[in-house]
Amino acid sequence: ENGSSASSSIRKDKLLGGLLAAGFDEESCLSRYQAVLYRKESPHLPSPYLLERLRKHEVLQRKCGPNTELYNKAVEQLKSGQSIETAECNYVVWISYSGLGNRVLTLASAFLYALLTNRVLLIDRGADMADLFCEPFPESSWLLPLDFPVNQFNSFDIKAPQSYGNMLEKKVISNSVDGGSTGSLPAYVYLHLDHDYGDFDKLFFCEDDQRVLQKIPWLVLKSDNYFVPSLFLIPTYEEELHQLFPEKDTVFHHLGRYLFHPTNTVWGLITRYYQSYLAKAEEKVGIQVRVFDTGPGPFQHVLDQILGCSLKEKLLPDISAAHESVVSSPTVRSKAVLMTSLNSGYYEKIRNMYWENPTVTGEIISVYQPSHEEYQQTGKQMHNMKAWAEMYLLSLSDVLVTSAWSTFGYVAQGLGGLKPWIMFKPENETAPDPPCHRVMSMEPCFHAPPFYDCKAKRGVDTGALVPHVKHCEDMSWGLKLV
Ligand code: GDP
Repeated sequence: ENGSSASSSIRKDKLLGGLLAAGFDEESCLSRYQAVLYRKESPHLPSPYLLERLRKHEVLQRKCGPNTELYNKAVEQLKSGQSIETAECNYVVWISYSGLGNRVLTLASAFLYALLTNRVLLIDRGADMADLFCEPFPESSWLLPLDFPVNQFNSFDIKAPQSYGNMLEKKVISNSVDGGSTGSLPAYVYLHLDHDYGDFDKLFFCEDDQRVLQKIPWLVLKSDNYFVPSLFLIPTYEEELHQLFPEKDTVFHHLGRYLFHPTNTVWGLITRYYQSYLAKAEEKVGIQVRVFDTGPGPFQHVLDQILGCSLKEKLLPDISAAHESVVSSPTVRSKAVLMTSLNSGYYEKIRNMYWENPTVTGEIISVYQPSHEEYQQTGKQMHNMKAWAEMYLLSLSDVLVTSAWSTFGYVAQGLGGLKPWIMFKPENETAPDPPCHRVMSMEPCFHAPPFYDCKAKRGVDTGALVPHVKHCEDMSWGLKLV
């Protein structure tokens, strides 16, 4: 450090251009401030308006969060069952549900919705949310208190009578603009935004329905999807979103870096691995392998696809047929390849390939894979800690290869600010040609978007309405911000 300007720029860095609030106890969540030591600086600055809104939101969380008088009042009101027109504090309760990648994406979506609607975000801690993520808001907890009166979250599904969609369908509430049946609104509704949701549930994404929801103090939300792209299609929020995110393809990048800080235990997994295996390499290549075929694998066509993609796109060098020849280069470059997969087969094959053969470029390729958990074990603690650590480690790569349809990969690319080469989903057990494609933007894909024109009340291609919401590379019916 030389002088105050240097040290203040270090301080500024630590807070990621003002994205993170100052004033946390650093020891309680080391990753929040140490992340900057492991990441390249993001070329994307958060907008001043986003920073302003985040600070305002932190004040709201503090004012209305658990253990405040206003929270207690709102809970009393919830118990009474009736809505009042002007509640001082309104809430979104996020239900912990689905795989870890899905959870991260839905939580970011729920947070953006809370920000847009001035609602406090509280999260159901599920089995392990508190073990995986630090508190994101200063001086206030986002964990839903355990004595919260609505807690039958497991029974919330497409059939739940408390869902907004079912209440509309059964005409318990009305969304018609000219008042319709006025009757009083409930104190809470359940928003079923899961991939299996129905047409009435999907009306969530309509302006008139947003107007009704504004009057309901408690919204309890369950989803397994990154539903942000469709929020950009609701006229109510268009202007605000434009101001928050002048660069539309940075929504998850900024919100993810704001919200998701690994707890000290997970940070230990990340930093020990990074320092042991990745730190010294001149280039870090992340390869995320997620296979949705049934059966244990490894599969030859998946291996073909990984190598086909990496060699074709020159992310990894080819091997030389002449076994002893090594191109003598004055500076031997080293690349570290971080692979993640439930299965160890692909990693073993690729590691052996670079051990048994020299590369045509003389580069030294080291291949690593932190774990091979064999199958998804949602709910088991160390399993999800490793999954989170691996997503984070992938996000520290210089270049990234991901698998189609996988939210695990989306999280890594968004946190890292990386546009990966995405490997298309294999059909009929054959590697697709081309094996992969560079994505348009680092945003996650919304896998189950609505295709409905709220004004015209008929179907529409929601991927063709505005230039910044397009269909995804890896799923033709999905939507992503570009
Ligand atoms: P998605 O199913 O690929 O969209 O990703 P999710 O994260 O939502 O769900 C997959 C789950 O399977 C993860 O949360 C992990 O529990 C597990 N999983 C899948 N791939 C890996 C991997 O490469 N490493 C680890 N440790 N776990 C994985």
